[in-house]
Amino acid sequence: MLEIERRLEAERLAALENLEKVQDQAQLDQWKQNHLGKTSVTMSAFGQVVTVPNEERPAFGKAVNAAKVVLETALAGKLALIKQKELEARMSQGTIDVTLPGRGLRRGRIHPLNLTAQEIYRVVGQMGFQIYQSPEVETDDFNFTFLNIPPHHPARDMWDTFYTDKDNIVLRTHTSPGQIHAMREYCPQPIRVILPGACFRYEQQDQSHEIEFMQVELLAVDKGITFADLKGTLQDFARRMFGEQTQIRLRPSYFPFTEPSAELDVECFVCGGKGCGVCHGGGWLEWGGCGMVHPRVLEYGGYDPEIFTGFAAGMGVDRATLLRYQVDDIRYFRNNDIRFLEQF
Ligand SMILES: [Zn+2]
Repeated sequence: MLEIERRLEAERLAALENLEKVQDQAQLDQWKQNHLGKTSVTMSAFGQVVTVPNEERPAFGKAVNAAKVVLETALAGKLALIKQKELEARMSQGTIDVTLPGRGLRRGRIHPLNLTAQEIYRVVGQMGFQIYQSPEVETDDFNFTFLNIPPHHPARDMWDTFYTDKDNIVLRTHTSPGQIHAMREYCPQPIRVILPGACFRYEQQDQSHEIEFMQVELLAVDKGITFADLKGTLQDFARRMFGEQTQIRLRPSYFPFTEPSAELDVECFVCGGKGCGVCHGGGWLEWGGCGMVHPRVLEYGGYDPEIFTGFAAGMGVDRATLLRYQVDDIRYFRNNDIRFLEQF
């Protein structure tokens, strides 16, 4: 072993021993100057590489470098320890460390589903409808029976329902139970309400299905309301939402709580009815379901169906939002990925 290597080894041991005695930042700075400064044994050894015979140079260079790395690593470890000690000392004195950077407040945004819902509220509000909230957890009677879907009736299979372990308590599968709550509260006055909120169905989740989704539902009850009122209201609603030229289309359908019933389509607002990818070339988008309130539902709500009539129309807010912002997967709305939500 060369003399210089022996000196390096002795220096390394001495340096590490000295480091043990270092107590604060000032002593550490001094240590750094002594053992890793330009004139220190280790650093000046780099300059002596020219004095080493050629064949020993690689081994020598490696040894000097290793010695330097050992000291630098020890220095970094000690520095972290001193910082930690200083922090603990300050904390134990109970003073606030104003040198720590604070956590900035992030600006929140309105969720895209609520943006769509707010737009709907704004439009129907102008048309004289008021918001009526009702529970998301319902009894079997409100979710089914009072909506003309008696126990054991096959129509119940139209909804994949979350039943709870409490007798007759379900998560509502639609906002329609709110119809009964509103009618019982306002009977015998006329009603014009919009029923919004979360609904739940036990469905396989995919791009266009979620177990939770948001629905809004219009309900009007009064003397002399006809199907023409339903159609006119929906046409007006669509024009206010999507533009003056927007057309709607009603297709005969079946729902237990309305008679007659119809599917509601709106002219594709992407292509204006010409046909595009969003409307799958047909020019129409499925928007919701509607119909005249079934006489039995009016009765359950307390209204005499011989005197009163009404209409109801429901639509999915999730689906409307998918279309509105051209989002390709409904599951984005509820998985709370900030990268997605920040775009609205
Ligand atoms: Zn289209």
